[in-house]
Amino acid sequence: MNFLKRLSRIPYYILLIIEFIFKKVVFRCHMCGQCVLQFTGFTCPMRCPKQLRDGPCGGTRENSHCEVYPERKCIWALVYSRSRFLGRTRKLEVIQFPIDWRLENTSAWINYFSGRDGQREFKRNLKRKASLLPSEQ
Ligand code: SF4
Repeated sequence: MNFLKRLSRIPYYILLIIEFIFKKVVFRCHMCGQCVLQFTGFTCPMRCPKQLRDGPCGGTRENSHCEVYPERKCIWALVYSRSRFLGRTRKLEVIQFPIDWRLENTSAWINYFSGRDGQREFKRNLKRKASLLPSEQ
């Protein structure tokens, strides 16, 4: 029974390996399992040593380098410059959902399409809450 269960997971692992190789090579993916590349100018925010997903920490140096690794450029400076280059700066205004570490090393593609990552639900709730706020006059 256990063997059959494992066998049925083979397509999942094949997709996971394809995703891992592709995103590791192209985006230097850290396999968080809840991808936000479409909002960050196709730059993986998990490369930030603090793993911030909603912008820089405030410790960015004057030369746009990282507070933790001064020899590296702040990943959020890269996110901004790439988003600007691609004409996608509006995407940076989207509030990102809190990361669920239980999904680390799982397939972000499958998590997104199955709704397991909670991304769509989080955004729906945000919209609903925003619609309940009094409008600005
Ligand atoms: S799945 Fe997570 S770690 Fe991988 S590229 Fe997307 S945001 Fe980065």
